[in-house]
Amino acid sequence: MNQHPEDQQRAVAFQRRELEAFPSLTKAQLDDLRHKSHALQQEFRAHPVLHDTLNVLLLLGLFAADLLSLTVLPFLSPWPLSTPGGAALAGVVSGAVHSFLVCGIVTFSVHEGAAHNLIILGRGPVARALRLLANNACRLFLADPVHYAEAHGTHHRSLGTPEDGSFTHFVRFRRLLGALLPLAPMLSHSDYFPWRPREHTRSRRLSVALTNSYLLFCAVLATWLHGPVFMLVALLVVGSWLSFVLDRLRESTEHLFMPLDRANGTRELGLGFWGLLLGGGPWGQPCHLTHHLEPALPWYQQLRLHFFLRRVLTAEQRRHFFPRPVIGVPHLLWRLATASQPTAARD
Ligand SMILES: [Zn+2]
Repeated sequence: MNQHPEDQQRAVAFQRRELEAFPSLTKAQLDDLRHKSHALQQEFRAHPVLHDTLNVLLLLGLFAADLLSLTVLPFLSPWPLSTPGGAALAGVVSGAVHSFLVCGIVTFSVHEGAAHNLIILGRGPVARALRLLANNACRLFLADPVHYAEAHGTHHRSLGTPEDGSFTHFVRFRRLLGALLPLAPMLSHSDYFPWRPREHTRSRRLSVALTNSYLLFCAVLATWLHGPVFMLVALLVVGSWLSFVLDRLRESTEHLFMPLDRANGTRELGLGFWGLLLGGGPWGQPCHLTHHLEPALPWYQQLRLHFFLRRVLTAEQRRHFFPRPVIGVPHLLWRLATASQPTAARD
């Protein structure tokens, strides 16, 4: 992920201009959240087998659902798969479901697994093998867990500073649009794609090889069952594009226009439509503020802390930390588009 000093300067200018009266979290609120988090940590650390079983079943379920979306789901299509038009429409539906599931798998594996090592807690040989598989599952979708874990550490330690390895407090709209172009991830076009390094390291090459193998397996299966038109639309057009769109929109909105400090620098998309869609499900990152405040919690405990957080915040703080339902995320993107105009650079 490239660093752009101009975007960092714009974030600083925005902070000076717009965030002087920001209702920051108080020490008492942060203490309440920390105490609640400690209680939640004790709960899940006391039941490692239950925790590991839940996450293994979740990952298996996501992969099974992904395969079903490309194999069984098209048979339920109201359009005839024997015609190119019907196959293409069924491909759009299957590709969209596939993309959403991939978005959840990658975020869960690379973030919860590789970066925070929270998917599998056990210490025995079986647990070690499961941890290796879970933390590397993201390699089937172009992500590099080694690179991401390194960059993500700086994101937590240095949020909103030039040392932040995933600085997104301001990403010019042009950069965002470039990242959303079809096939941008496959062509390495995006310059703020944190899942893998721009250099062709050994770890990145391993991810590319595994991605191509898994893609080939899915392509052969989908073509055999539903024909080449379905496969092209579901896998190579919609499937290879939409999950990155969801992921980039999430990452571009969860820190955008927030204060440049560790406690207050994150927005909570939450468990509404946009949070669950862009987060790839509850196991993705819909509750990013609670995650930044208490990163030692696994996904399901983050959800519980999210509801606690809602009660702890004042009404004014909720307006700043939680986007409005439905229109909140589009409104944020509109503000980014207008703030990215050249005149804004003079601020
Ligand atoms: Zn994290």
